Amino acid sequence: MKRPQSARRAKAAAKAAGGIATLLKSMHDAVAVAATAQDRLDALTEAIAKHVASDVCSIYLRLASDELELYSTVGLNREAVHKTKLKWGEGLVGVVAETQRPLVTADAPLHPNFAYRPETGEDPLHSFLGVPLIRSGKSLGVLVLQNLVSRRYTDEEVGAAQAVATLLAEIAASGELFDPRTTAEVGAMLHRPERLRAVGVVPGVARGRAAFHEPPTPKHRVFSADVDAEIGRLDLGIAALQASVDAMLARETLEDAPREVLEAYRLFAYDGGWKERMRAAAKSGLTAESAVEQVQAENRARMAQIKDPYIRERMHDLDDLSRRLLRHLTGADAAAAAELPEAAILIARALGPAELLEYDRARLKGLIVAEATATSHVAIVARALGVPLVAGADSALGLAEEGDEIIIDGDSGDVLIRPTAEVIESYREKEALQSEQQAAFAAERDLPSVTKDGVAIELFMNAGIPLDLSHLERTGAAGVGLFRTELQFIIGAQLPRAGAQERVYAQILALAGGKPVVFRTADLGADKAGAYMKVKPEANPAMGWRGLRMAIDRPGLFRPQLRALLAASAGRTAHILFPMITLPDEIDAARALIEREIEFAQRRGKPLPSEIRIGAMIETPAAAWRIDDIAARVDFLSIGGNDLAQFYFAADRDAEMTQRRFDPLEPGFLSFIARLAEAAARAGKPLTFCGEQAADPVMGAALIGAGVRRFSSPATSIGPFRRLLRSIDARGVADWLQGASQLKAPIRREFTHYLATVGAQLP
Ligand code: PEP
Ligand code: MG
Repeated sequence: MKRPQSARRAKAAAKAAGGIATLLKSMHDAVAVAATAQDRLDALTEAIAKHVASDVCSIYLRLASDELELYSTVGLNREAVHKTKLKWGEGLVGVVAETQRPLVTADAPLHPNFAYRPETGEDPLHSFLGVPLIRSGKSLGVLVLQNLVSRRYTDEEVGAAQAVATLLAEIAASGELFDPRTTAEVGAMLHRPERLRAVGVVPGVARGRAAFHEPPTPKHRVFSADVDAEIGRLDLGIAALQASVDAMLARETLEDAPREVLEAYRLFAYDGGWKERMRAAAKSGLTAESAVEQVQAENRARMAQIKDPYIRERMHDLDDLSRRLLRHLTGADAAAAAELPEAAILIARALGPAELLEYDRARLKGLIVAEATATSHVAIVARALGVPLVAGADSALGLAEEGDEIIIDGDSGDVLIRPTAEVIESYREKEALQSEQQAAFAAERDLPSVTKDGVAIELFMNAGIPLDLSHLERTGAAGVGLFRTELQFIIGAQLPRAGAQERVYAQILALAGGKPVVFRTADLGADKAGAYMKVKPEANPAMGWRGLRMAIDRPGLFRPQLRALLAASAGRTAHILFPMITLPDEIDAARALIEREIEFAQRRGKPLPSEIRIGAMIETPAAAWRIDDIAARVDFLSIGGNDLAQFYFAADRDAEMTQRRFDPLEPGFLSFIARLAEAAARAGKPLTFCGEQAADPVMGAALIGAGVRRFSSPATSIGPFRRLLRSIDARGVADWLQGASQLKAPIRREFTHYLATVGAQLP
């Protein structure tokens, strides 16, 4: 049943695509003969109206005031042109511009947002199809088609209208067809200052120039002057694209499944149909770039209707290929490899920890990563590097242009694109204040970390690279409670040798100057795999083959690390912590491997640590449930709050929506932690809370109420946390939490209010 239907659909789409080529040709011809800017625009409107057989075709453009002005029409009263204006969000046109989505209705006057404009003479019109003209993430206007009869526009018609709207947006931005006043208005709108409210993930203010992890296509002309030359450019671009995909396939030594995917990708690059559609668009008078974009827009419109996940995935491939082809055509490929500007704010949809480390640290001032959260590994690395990070600002990807001035505030989550001089000034003040505050916290570093009712709290620091150790002194941390060793594994081109690992660990210990350092063995897997590791893709990598699971299965990876840790700690206490413990037996297996390394060192007469202390991370509910059995096997315990909360709430630590929904400052989770703290105390084993949640001092205070007495958190949070804990009463917080399960979730507001009323020094 499915086949014939999709075949029919494909046929209809092909017909529509062929139709679009004819339309483009008539648009190109109409534009070529008209004299004034208004004539050209009217000729274009007429060509569209004729092609889609609609009674009315109108183009509205957005002014700098955000009003939408009728710029051209076929079918409505001509006198209304440049007179009819709709406010942002007003009428169906305003709704289309605001939502950036097409709006289709068979009976416009019945629509709740319908706004009647008598001067247009649109009374008898019923059907309405409006599509936004989008460029750089903004609506620049709306293309409207209307018919006298009440009817529903087909998916193909909507797709064709979207394709035309893409072109119109490009034209509006390039200034090819509009008078200078309009071009200036559109330009001013595209470049005006923007303020976005996103999520602050790594604190601090940063200012710099926008640089894209994947650069968008630069502006280009829409209509060609020389059709043959453009077809020639297109052919060359496609050949270059094919060569680059071939090279990629030859380079990658992948396992079966990804290889198949790449082969399918290559087939697309050589697909004759795709090439012909782009050539037809170029033949109709578009530049090579616009021809690619045109076919890409049609594909996207089709992609939106396809439910089959396999076909959707293939359509994504095609979208990706179109982007690559555009980069070949615009020469942006060379630009992508170029260096970051001197002070860069890097903008990415998604960014892995290794990718981040590849950038020049000296130039990277701040990060905007649309798909990241506080516990993402990219955030952990950014925190280690001291690079402010704002997450979730999807629209920054469209609103900013390469080189734009940008300020980000990693505390409030504000993103300011092209800020005015006054805004820059106020942020300068904030930056100054920030360093004053840091100096104040540094001055308090030797004050005892003791609550008002005399409960001693130990503050340790998280670290992952040697640079982090410089914060030990300034923060007054008691030591490094969690050193994430995996960074060394994921940045290199190959597995680091035991000798290289030993040198890093020895350097860290030397920098710690006698303060203890807890080395966590590599928590590899999930998003922390080295490019060389050939890890099979998993549907749920966070719950997959990672951490100690992988280490036990791959002694070739694990034993050199243990050897390096023992050698670097010779003559002193070694603290070795195992990640992602699920069952107590896993500790026995890991211990056995340590024993073998000890024997190995002894046989060779190598010096050993004076003491070896073994720790287990409690970051799966299974390990939490059996904490007594685990505690009996180790010397110390550590709560990996990031993973533990992820598995407790069944909420992906990297997904913004779930992170927003499940605040770990929650009575159930806090009482769960309280039980772990009790079990550790019963067993007489120290317990450290290591998750990033304690980077938030308010959460830290709640954890003190839950019985946690030792923390390891990012360096930046230690000063504010020490100040806060010295101003609270541990018993009082515990009593308050006792009653918290009766409160309506989320309890953060009430808890913060409680802290304020007892005079706590909130950040
Ligand atoms: C944790 O899970 O809380 C933790 C400390 O480890 P990581 O964030 O490296 O997974
Ligand atoms: Mg973890």
